[in-house]
Amino acid sequence: MKSILLIATGGTIASRPTIAGLAPQLRAQDILDCVPALRDLCRIDALQLMNIDSTNMSPECWLAIAACVRKHYEDYDGFVITHGTDTMAYTASALSYLIQQSAKPIVLTGSQKSIYSQDTDARRNLYDAFLAAQDDELHGVLLVFDGRVITGTRARKTRTKSLNAFSSIDYPDVALLREGRILHYIREPKPEGCPVFYDQLNPRVFVLRLIPGMNPGVLYTLLDSFDALVIESFGVGGLPCYESEDFLAAVAAWARIGKPIVITTQVPHEGSDLSVYQVGARVADTPGVLQAHTMTVESVVTKLMWILPQAHELSEIAVLFYQPVSHDLLRFV
Ligand code: ASP
Repeated sequence: MKSILLIATGGTIASRPTIAGLAPQLRAQDILDCVPALRDLCRIDALQLMNIDSTNMSPECWLAIAACVRKHYEDYDGFVITHGTDTMAYTASALSYLIQQSAKPIVLTGSQKSIYSQDTDARRNLYDAFLAAQDDELHGVLLVFDGRVITGTRARKTRTKSLNAFSSIDYPDVALLREGRILHYIREPKPEGCPVFYDQLNPRVFVLRLIPGMNPGVLYTLLDSFDALVIESFGVGGLPCYESEDFLAAVAAWARIGKPIVITTQVPHEGSDLSVYQVGARVADTPGVLQAHTMTVESVVTKLMWILPQAHELSEIAVLFYQPVSHDLLRFV
């Protein structure tokens, strides 16, 4: 029987109704007790790292989760992290950068309904997560939800209420879970050697969603408080040029002090391609500007947080940014 460590962090899966709304109150052991079938599946130890609504998740919490996995890595065959659904995709991406080359599965899960509600998805998701965590073929950071195994860097919450809350963006699911069994869609050799753990993140990353008519002055306002800017632009990507070149001048101001700007898109699928339109190509030519291509916004944000403490020159930042990690960056060949 495999040994799995449950790291509980809160979320709806651990919530009970309070007079002010649902709030995490159940402890790791309470959650496990709701799924007795787990006893026949694997040996489980449980640890309560925090008990928060994932709205309160932060880069500090991600470092704490990664440090916890690192501390216990040799003692277990796999890890299950219970987590609120609202920011689970960010955590999945962050952990994909903080823990690389893991031959063991590190599985995030949660639920749309509390484990005590009658029509809860919590019991199924929890059982499936342990099934994935003790699987011989799965490895690395994964998100398990509604019978799907999703690569950590490709996950996004796409439904606020339905049980199929998560999608794998522009990448196939890794596996399907049904009636206690796993069907693998993607089989990959496990990484050899030890995993690589990182212990620093720079949270000074800002995401700006462009709207028609936006004043480019906002880019200067953000310059002192942040070390990297992600602009969610329109379509395949571009910046407005109204009557002046103000946006380009503002982008150039970031580059001058060595702070990167990443252009991504607010369209949910298929990524950016700044080379298509004039409004994009002229931005792509500005030094210091990177583009997300097929990376999700969750991955872009957490990858920048991971890169900034290690690289200071824009050229070094670009090299790390375009180096694929755990299928975050997919390219046509
Ligand atoms: N607000 C909750 C959380 O993210 C939602 C959930 O878990 O489904 O913690």
